[in-house]
Amino acid sequence: MTKILNHWIGGKTVEGASGTYGPVTNPATGVVTTKVPFAAVDEVDTAVAEAKDAYRTWSQTSLAKRTEILFRFRALLDMNRDEIAELITAEHGKMHSDALGEVTRGLEVVDLACGINVQLKGELSTEVSTGVDVAAIRQPLGVVAGITPFNFPAMIPMWMFSMAIACGNTVVLKPSEKDPSASLRLAELMAEAGLPDGVFNIVHGDKVAVDRLLEHPDVKAVSFVGSTPVARYVHATASANGKRVQALGGAKNHMLVLPDADLEAAADAAVSAGYGSAGERCMAISVVVAVGSIGDELVEKIRRRAEKIKIGPGNDLASEMGPLVTKAHRDKVASYVTGAAADGAEVVLDGTGYSVEGYEDGHWLGVSLLDKVPTTAKAYRDEIFGPVLCVLRVDTYEGGVDLINNSPFANGTAIFTRDGGAARRFQLEIDPGMVGVNVPMPVPVGYHSFGGSKDSLFGDHHMHGNDATHFYTRGKVITSRWPDPADAPAGVDLGFPRNH
Ligand code: NAD
Repeated sequence: MTKILNHWIGGKTVEGASGTYGPVTNPATGVVTTKVPFAAVDEVDTAVAEAKDAYRTWSQTSLAKRTEILFRFRALLDMNRDEIAELITAEHGKMHSDALGEVTRGLEVVDLACGINVQLKGELSTEVSTGVDVAAIRQPLGVVAGITPFNFPAMIPMWMFSMAIACGNTVVLKPSEKDPSASLRLAELMAEAGLPDGVFNIVHGDKVAVDRLLEHPDVKAVSFVGSTPVARYVHATASANGKRVQALGGAKNHMLVLPDADLEAAADAAVSAGYGSAGERCMAISVVVAVGSIGDELVEKIRRRAEKIKIGPGNDLASEMGPLVTKAHRDKVASYVTGAAADGAEVVLDGTGYSVEGYEDGHWLGVSLLDKVPTTAKAYRDEIFGPVLCVLRVDTYEGGVDLINNSPFANGTAIFTRDGGAARRFQLEIDPGMVGVNVPMPVPVGYHSFGGSKDSLFGDHHMHGNDATHFYTRGKVITSRWPDPADAPAGVDLGFPRNH
């Protein structure tokens, strides 16, 4: 039986009214399990109106009460990790263990939100001028929107709504239509934790719902994570409508391996970071750059490891890599492998013919490894977002840095070396916003910020860390004087005020 999902508006489930639905598929079986409603403009308007109404009291709610609710949510999240991970696996396809990791990384940012009182501490300068004090405070913005991608259906919503709500805002989230169930469960847990109705709302949908959020006059800020073309569009449209916006886009993360690196460790790292979650991570390594003469040896070590990866359903404990999210995405990823040889690459492993017994309708792809990929090849230029690892060869460290910095993407990168000086240079010379030194996927811990630059991030703010508090609040500076009634009046002075 196909389940029909609802929106979450004003603290309760609300049936879709537009009559338009999208299919949610179990990627391992290929079966459509759920129909997700696509909100029409008036349904988005209802959610924004609820959020606007709730903002009046939520923005005035004390930090003590806000954090009490967040602590309760944290406890509920902890108790329900398994259930949320199961929802993720059933709609995204990733391994249960991987889904649990995602929940943990979301929880890390909920931890940060629980300590919002420390982050929102203002500043006070006394006696800046005679009898004058200056205070700097940060205040919430109002209704903020979150628009999230399929690949982290619980973690990225949590990165957004936990910090936005902690800062005193109310939220309308538009989760990915491909795997929307986890975010709904999170909304229920927030309600169970005591969050007042209307503070957190979810509208499902497609471009229609997103466009309405981007132009709605009562939405003050937009957080977006997704592919680069949509990120660019969201940034331009929301900015043109006067909103604060952060739009994180796609990625093509390079791992530079210097000749002195531990090649066993580098091969382990490349395989783990390249094929984990079937390559559907924005921090996945998709390009290995071999420096000097190590190329053949490194490719061989990667090949030997990659061909042993066990592929199967995410809820089977024996599997290590699951299916791709949709059939269309699976076919698109496969096309990069089938076209690679014509583009001049050497196909070392071709996963396009892979199938899993008993799950013939699943969206399967085996692992693919492409060597000596020219920079002109489509497989190098595009973000593939699947289990396809490209290897490029360069002669020198400098050649590797140029290659990475010439990419339009600049999300994450890593260097593998035993040379501290080279690693230090790399940190300073490289464009991407997140850099790993012998760490292939340098996803920053929740209390540091997450984000790249160039085509991987449009806007000024990263996610979580101090950037989140800044993004979800605006500054205000108050200058005050309390003259003694006994003082003589200062008199009229048309000059520009000076401190003395
Ligand atoms: P996507 O861009 O297709 O969709 C993201 C969101 O935008 C979804 O909610 C979707 O409904 C909406 N959307 C899609 N097309 C739209 C349009 N034309 N107009 C308005 N809204 C639209 O991305 P995806 O396939 O769900 O996610 C994968 C992408 O996200 C990859 O490119 C990946 O690199 C990126 N990503 C980036 C980061 C990061 O931190 N930079 C993190 C996770 C994922």
